[in-house]
Amino acid sequence: MKPNFARVIIDRAIHRELDYAIPHEFAGRIDVGWRVRVPFREKAALATVIAILAETDASGIRPIEAVVGDGAALSPKLLELARWMSAYYCCSIETVMRSLLPQVIRRAEVSWKKQLFVHRMREVPPDAAEKLRKRAPRQAELLDAVSQLTAPIAAADLLRQTSLDNQTLRALARRGYVELRAAAMPRDPHADEQFVATTNLCLNAEQSAALTAIEQSLGNPSNARPILLHGVTGSGKTEIYLQAIRSALARGGTAIVLVPEISLTPQTVERFKSRFAEGADMVAVLHSRLSEGERHDEWHKIQAGRARIVIGARSAIFAPLENLGLIVVDEEHETSYKQEEAPRYQARDVAVVRGKLENCVVLLGTATPSLESYYNATRGKYQLLKLTLRVDDNQMPLIRIVDLREEKRKAKSLTIIGEKLHSAIIARLEKREQTILFLNRRGFSTSLLCSACGEARDCPNCSVALTFHRTASRLSCHLCGHTAAVPKKCPACGEDALIYSGFGTEKVEAHVQQLFPKSVVRRMDADSMTRKDAYRETLRAFRAGKIDLLVGTQMIAKGLHFPNVTLVGIINADLALHLPDFRAGERTFQLLTQVAGRAGRGETPGEVFVQTFTPFSPSIQFARHHDFVGYFDQELEFRERCEFPPFTHAVLITVRSAHEARASFSAETLARRLKEALPDEFILSPPSPAPLEKLQGQLRFHILIRGEAIVRLSRLVRETLDKLPFPEDVLASVDVDPYQLL
Ligand code: ADP
Ligand code: ZN
Repeated sequence: MKPNFARVIIDRAIHRELDYAIPHEFAGRIDVGWRVRVPFREKAALATVIAILAETDASGIRPIEAVVGDGAALSPKLLELARWMSAYYCCSIETVMRSLLPQVIRRAEVSWKKQLFVHRMREVPPDAAEKLRKRAPRQAELLDAVSQLTAPIAAADLLRQTSLDNQTLRALARRGYVELRAAAMPRDPHADEQFVATTNLCLNAEQSAALTAIEQSLGNPSNARPILLHGVTGSGKTEIYLQAIRSALARGGTAIVLVPEISLTPQTVERFKSRFAEGADMVAVLHSRLSEGERHDEWHKIQAGRARIVIGARSAIFAPLENLGLIVVDEEHETSYKQEEAPRYQARDVAVVRGKLENCVVLLGTATPSLESYYNATRGKYQLLKLTLRVDDNQMPLIRIVDLREEKRKAKSLTIIGEKLHSAIIARLEKREQTILFLNRRGFSTSLLCSACGEARDCPNCSVALTFHRTASRLSCHLCGHTAAVPKKCPACGEDALIYSGFGTEKVEAHVQQLFPKSVVRRMDADSMTRKDAYRETLRAFRAGKIDLLVGTQMIAKGLHFPNVTLVGIINADLALHLPDFRAGERTFQLLTQVAGRAGRGETPGEVFVQTFTPFSPSIQFARHHDFVGYFDQELEFRERCEFPPFTHAVLITVRSAHEARASFSAETLARRLKEALPDEFILSPPSPAPLEKLQGQLRFHILIRGEAIVRLSRLVRETLDKLPFPEDVLASVDVDPYQLL
């Protein structure tokens, strides 16, 4: 075949593949997965090559203008994955590409950071320094330092060590005594940290059995099913990941470890970097807080095959590793694996598909499996491995339910910390043990109401109340970011009758500080952690025992390990329960179990207080008894009765516009067309205003479809949408396997 043409997908949503001629100078160089620059309409566009062709019947063929980068940016396997995602998630392949390749790689505008290195020359006369000593003493001094070098050194470092200047260095170079060469200088986000090498821990019986099973799969990946590792909090799952990765490496493979963004803490990264400390580049880290330069370097380290383990958040599932042997998805139940903008993919599910394509083992680990994964395990689609004990025989924490209705009757006013939790905190303070207080809501007061006219301060763009933040002294909308000054009088009726009600973490912090004035209280949430190092500093202080009470949101719920925490208080367990979302119960169960897992990780057993107005709800009761299977069985029954996932797949279409009538009319029309297009096997709910009716100034309508054959449903939805011309100011988005139903 004469490779004359390249078929490409350009980085713009035109829903078409285009052919270009390969000019002579690039012949034999360009291949599938390479990035190129091509003429498109009047301008140039960046594109990805998806096929090399001997001929094409397209007309008006133009040549490729340039090659971008110096290797394939995507492997054929990743391209195949992109096609699957496009079909499954009902979105264009161009949109998928945006997630598959980081922007810094797509644009190829950032490159390696170059730095000057000083090389020692062999042919320097032995008396050179002596001769210089009189006329140019500083050059002599620098030459002395250079003659001690065993390897090239960064010029900046040499000058810092000797306190000499650049001019002196240049003079030496002109004499030919040293050579200055530019070389790439990796921007390593963890460069100034030392990693002390660790070795495999000796596994307990349950851990060994699990590892053996995983190794069997690693030895025979083509027959392996995805593995669900269900291990209670503190059962040593991470140690199993580490040893399984070691095993995959020994077989010549590479590994990806997905971790929820929020748990990708320095503590987590350190555990991996120290275990695989044999090469500085062994472990690459990918997450959203990297600078563009750091991301560029980490990505190329992976692509060049120097990094063999990638640890990262959601999009690390697309890391360009070759010979993938193992993909680990930690906390597989986490909803943050779902991307909430197009392409709306679920990284855990993509991991399973990539595993199949690359013939590699997929290991999903969690203390609280998602209903979907556990259902797959009970049906034999996944292999189930269990860890039922905490490492070192630590007891599971004792969970006590506090009925807030009763506490309220007794206290007659707003209860933040009930009587029982209050005494428990005092006991901890006396024993110098630490406490975590959890509340899934930021801010000080969650609403501002006029007691004269009843008007509430709602966001002008969204149908939610504004939250009062005391530190910032502003009202703010947690959905769109709108902020407003705090009025002194009611803007509606002019009365001086504003009352603050509801509370968030900021108020809990202030309240707790007031209750226990001598204790050190800190808060950890998105508002208090805006500075880059704040998170690390607070955790360090907490670990060092300098903080008695830590108040926080989800940020403190996940994966943290503090032996001295013996008490966890969940201020209000009901926050998630009453959302109009079929997963509300599941999320509450998961959250309670995860937060409770923060208690009693050391010698002393932990205690958890769950404050709630609905003490008998199943998710609270089952979490209390650490009974996942019990919870699963009853929740599964509910899902089956209502034909919800995992028994069906759901597709949620949101139609939105700033004009309510147009949004509603378009939603009605779309629903009618879908009714015609979809066979009876799909359940189409009539269009209805979304629970969150107004968001960022847009009025929103939902159409929910459920069914089993998801790829077929995706295609029918796409075709229907393509044939339906919406008014310009009406937008429709399609979410396959949605997690946000609001
Ligand atoms: P999980 O991920 O299941 O919550 P971790 O892997 O974080 O649990 O383990 C909890 C703690 O127990 C960690 O400090 C870990 O180093 C330690 N650990 C794990 N396995 C063992 C073992 N076999 N022997 C001793 N300590 C272990
Ligand atoms: Zn808003």
